[in-house]
Amino acid sequence: MSIQTNDPNEGSDSLKSLSLIAAHSHITGLGLDENLQPQETSQGMVGQLQARRAAGVVLKMVQNGTIAGRTILVAGPPSTGKTALAMGISQSLGEDVPFTTIAGSEIFSLELSKTEALTQAFRKCIGIKIKEETELIEGEVVEIQIDRSITGGHKQGKLTIKTTDMETIYELGNKMIDGLTKEKVLAGDVISIDKASGKITKLGRSFARSRDYDAMGADTRFVQCPEGELQKRKTVVHTVSLHEIDVINSRTQGFLALFTGDTGEIRSEVRDQINTKVAEWKEEGKAEIVPGVLFIDEVHMLDIECFSFINRALEDEFAPIIIMATNRGISRTRGTNYKSPHGLPLDLLDRSIIIATSNYNEHEVKTILSIRSKEEEVELTNDALDLLTKIGMETSLRYSSNLISVSLHIALKRKSNIVDVADVKRAYLLFCDSSRSVKYIQENVSQYIDDGGNVVISTVT
Ligand code: ATP
Repeated sequence: MSIQTNDPNEGSDSLKSLSLIAAHSHITGLGLDENLQPQETSQGMVGQLQARRAAGVVLKMVQNGTIAGRTILVAGPPSTGKTALAMGISQSLGEDVPFTTIAGSEIFSLELSKTEALTQAFRKCIGIKIKEETELIEGEVVEIQIDRSITGGHKQGKLTIKTTDMETIYELGNKMIDGLTKEKVLAGDVISIDKASGKITKLGRSFARSRDYDAMGADTRFVQCPEGELQKRKTVVHTVSLHEIDVINSRTQGFLALFTGDTGEIRSEVRDQINTKVAEWKEEGKAEIVPGVLFIDEVHMLDIECFSFINRALEDEFAPIIIMATNRGISRTRGTNYKSPHGLPLDLLDRSIIIATSNYNEHEVKTILSIRSKEEEVELTNDALDLLTKIGMETSLRYSSNLISVSLHIALKRKSNIVDVADVKRAYLLFCDSSRSVKYIQENVSQYIDDGGNVVISTVT
């Protein structure tokens, strides 16, 4: 089983997921203006205005981070941009909000039970922003107020200690004193600054007694970094997913499983403990929960057990927003004999809000094909683009889009970098679209193996 997250650097993703991304690489957002109104063509997105407007509202819901456990179903005929819409949302969300993509069929694996695979996918979509207080370290910029009593008569101002590796610059009031130190200065520490050389010495915390100062030369100034400074420590925020915390804390797997992706089943006690801990961190203000998005493509491939699991899991406090996509009309829900709209059980359908996509007109198909050809760096003549558009309207957008790279290879064979009508025609004849393939099967049905495993080979005379 493979799960694609929106981190392009993650390594364990399957080819399926990679091709999913590649097919939509031209999409960089939903193409909406600041009022969430879709532009006709923007950020690689073309047409489908109503659905994009609705997707913009979903995007805002996710960005607000207050709503979780909702389901959105994107339903429409094949190649009408359902996955493209989800990718547009993903691109607009940015890196901080987890976005995980799975195809319905990926849930069925021998290594994990269906519910475990779904649980992992759910928990990958819950981001935990953990706030960590760090010590002041070399290389960071620190600002410390000078204590007047210790600086004794010196102009009161701000001591700014800026350190970058070996180089250190000290600024006292408006006066610059240069020096070098490798020491780290913490709250409560006393430092001495030699005016002549600019040399800074850290004297430790117990130094703050006047006779110690007296022992130093007249040209030395002393500064005690106030205790309150500790509160000025830098806050670092790490974002991890609940799933990552699960894996790290799962004794059987350990953190290495994060790299191999081979997490196995994680015990529910581990998850319960983690949920309790995360809830505590949240209470204490140490952590913030960021509900992300789980996109389930081909959702009709899930079966009734998966659907009832999703129904239940949506009630959980750590539930993400689920976007599902399907191109099915009235069809059987897997694992049952019932037919229902989009193959989804009625209770799940009832709790979903539905975004409908519809077929593109000729102009939109042409624009999408033109964007795809640019994305694939294939130069088409106008006539070739017209022919591809015609094919797209008569067969499917995806088939015609696939012909772009095939046609280029045919063009290259005749030593041209530019795809012309003849190349597209040849590609069309070499590779069938689904309706021609079905027609061929119907005409030659006796030569194929049927569902019952019977081989009917016609006698060639
Ligand atoms: P299916 O039901 O077969 O899974 P789908 O509705 O998910 O299809 P997509 O895979 O999103 O369709 O679209 C097919 C191809 O067309 C993809 O390369 C996609 O990026 C592109 N595409 C579809 N709609 C648009 C659009 N509105 N703007 C730009 N590109 C689009």
